[in-house]
Parts: sequence; C-alpha cells; structure tokens
Amino acid sequence: MTTTILEAKDLKNDPVFGQNSFDGHEQIVFCNDEDTGLKAIIGVHNTVLGPALGGTRMWTYQSEWHALNDVLRLSRGMTFKAAITGLNLGGGKAVIIGDAKTQKNDDLMRRFGQFVDSLSGKYITAEDVGMETSDMDVIREVTPHVTGISESKGGAGNPSPITAYGVYMGMKAAAKHQFGTDDLAGKKVLLQGVGHVGETLLKHITDEGAQVIINDINEARLEELSKKYNASVILGNDIYGLDVDIYAPCALGATINDATINQLKATVIAGAANNQLADEVKHGRLLREKGIAYAPDFLINAGGIINVYAELEGYGKNEIIKKTENIYHTTLAIFKQSEVENTTTHKAALDIAQERINTRKKELNN
Ligand code: NAD
Repeated sequence: MTTTILEAKDLKNDPVFGQNSFDGHEQIVFCNDEDTGLKAIIGVHNTVLGPALGGTRMWTYQSEWHALNDVLRLSRGMTFKAAITGLNLGGGKAVIIGDAKTQKNDDLMRRFGQFVDSLSGKYITAEDVGMETSDMDVIREVTPHVTGISESKGGAGNPSPITAYGVYMGMKAAAKHQFGTDDLAGKKVLLQGVGHVGETLLKHITDEGAQVIINDINEARLEELSKKYNASVILGNDIYGLDVDIYAPCALGATINDATINQLKATVIAGAANNQLADEVKHGRLLREKGIAYAPDFLINAGGIINVYAELEGYGKNEIIKKTENIYHTTLAIFKQSEVENTTTHKAALDIAQERINTRKKELNN
C-alpha cells in the first residue's frame, strides 16, 4: 500500500535518514526471521508524549523501499494523530512485507510479537490493514505491548467501528462548514474502500439518508454491500471525476495527487485512509485554492486509537464515544483556524499537534 511517490534521490544517496518521510524518526527497527519468513519494519517516530502506538499493516509491497516509505509516513502520522486527539501517546507503526491472505500464520505473528517485545514498551502495536483482532490475541501471547485484543481477553476489541464513527463525525463537521448544515440526507457520497471501516461508515451515512456510491477492488463485497445498504456501485479506478458532494477515501493513502486533484467535483473530502494527500503541502494548498473542504485524515480517523488507548488507561465505552464525538468539534475548530490563519486545514491541525509536543518537550527538559 504505497502512499507516496519515491524520489530517485531518496533511493540512491540517503535511503533512510534522507527520505522525505524520515522526518526526525527516533528509531527504525528492521526485523528479519528466516524460520518464519518474517520481514517487518517498525518505525518509532516520536515518544515525547508517551509510548509510540500504532497498528501493524501487512501488505504486498512493490519493493522494500515502498514498505519503508509507508511505515515512515504512517508512524509520523500517528504522532500527530495522538497529539491532536489529546492522548498521551507517541507515534509509531509497523509493516510486515507479505500477503496477509496467504502468508500470515500464528508463528509469524508470534515472532513479530517478540520483536515488538524487544522494544520494552517503547512501541505498542495494534491492528491495521491485513490484521485481525485474533492476530493481536496471538501477539499478546508473547508481549504485553499490544492493544486491540479481543473483548473476551480483556481488550477493547476491533477498533474499526469506532474509527468509522469518528470519520462520520468529521464528515458531518466538514459538511457543516461547507454546506451550512451537517445533515447528510440527500448528499451524494463516493465511498472508496468498503472494508472494516468503510462498511460501518456506509451504514451511518445511509441511515442518515445520504446517496452513496461505493467503490472497491473486491467486487463480491461491492455486490453484497450494495444490496445490504441500497448503495450504487462504481467499478475501476476512474472514479475521481464523479459528480458527488463528498469523497470519502477509506482504502489507500495518496489518492489525492497530481493525477486526481483536478478531476475532483466533490467539495468535501472526509475519509478514514491514512495519508490521503500524496504531498501534504502542495495538495493541501491546491484543495484550499479549489474551495474543497478537506477534513484532515489524522484528525478524523482517530477513533481507533481512542478505542485502543482505553485498554491502556482503563476507561470504558461511554468515554470512548465521548472522546470520538469530540472529533466533530475539533474538526469545526480546525476549519475555523485555517480560515483565520489563511492556511490549509492539514497545516492548521499539524500546528496544534506540534505545539502540544513542543510544550511537553519543554516540560521534560526542565
Ligand atoms: P480494510 O483492509 O478492512 O479495508 C480496505 C478496503 O479497501 C478493502 O475492502 C479493500 O478491498 C479496498 N481497497 C484496497 N485497494 C483499493 C483500491 N485501489 N480501490 C478501491 N478499494 C480498494 O481496512 P480498514 O481497516 O477498513 O482501513 C481502511 C483505511 O483506514 C486504511 O487506510 C487504514 O489505514 C485506515 N485506518 C483504519 C483504522 C481502523 O481502525 N481500522 C484506523 C485509522 C485509519
């Protein structure tokens, strides 16, 4: 799941520290195990606010460089996600190179868990694409530094429904900002990726009366969900120019890029995918110039981390829902701040997150 285009200079001269996505990472761990075939990378971006928490993604990367780039971009995103959500967590993420459908097994998961354990709690793992709650239960056999384990084993369970609820809150706030109302009834929504998060989001917005067009590479899933939620279907990649009000990216990162940005007719973008902007500065600015209201991904998809943080802090479902609903208010505040400061919503959100990290760093140094 590549989330940015690698530059030739990244590959040749400074493949790790010099990557655009490196951005001050504290530590990167390359994990290799011949017996199980495990090849994984753990990125620890920043631990100023607390231990670096972020999910593990298993994906068939085009190359090792794409895997490294993905983990770097994702772990950096986690730092800002935790910071803006007010959680005492740092940012980290892991990727396992391979096909989750054919190469994942309990031995591989346990071996990966041992690598996580070797970091003694500096990195705490959780689910991401290609992972299930049951995989976290297997990792739990070898390390306590894992969240998102089954409710029957004392965990907070699958974070995806809460992530979807937070995205729904962010989408409503973006609609309020753009259309003057947060009522999604009658709004046309393009929902790309109807996986764990996408399906629950689909339920929320169709319940509210939105007209949804769904897109996925999994055609069987499209058929099933279009019937279940009375949604229309669009197949293939040529979807960005669709005449819709809202685009909800819930599959891959970097779908807002040089090739797609000028096709967009949607005037609101709000979805679950991490790193939606291929280039956060350039594409953030272009969205703003086009008058498209972009709800920053790392802000509105924080429901999952709120859910897994509950396992560490011991708070319950009511508090999880309350914190997730707050995404609505934070998103509105970010839109306001971006107008006041004449900047992109992405930058406005990043600045608030960075300020929190800077303040904590000063406290720690005093
Ligand atoms: P998932 O794997 O369950 O679903 C992803 C869906 O996208 C699948 O149905 C897949 O077939 C589809 N897909 C993949 N490539 C596609 C393409 N090119 N075009 C259209 N569809 C495509 O993953 P998920 O847990 O639902 O997560 C979705 C996104 O949200 C990911 O980017 C993930 O990193 C992000 N996210 C998830 C959570 C969470 O709690 N699960 C939290 C924060 C962010």
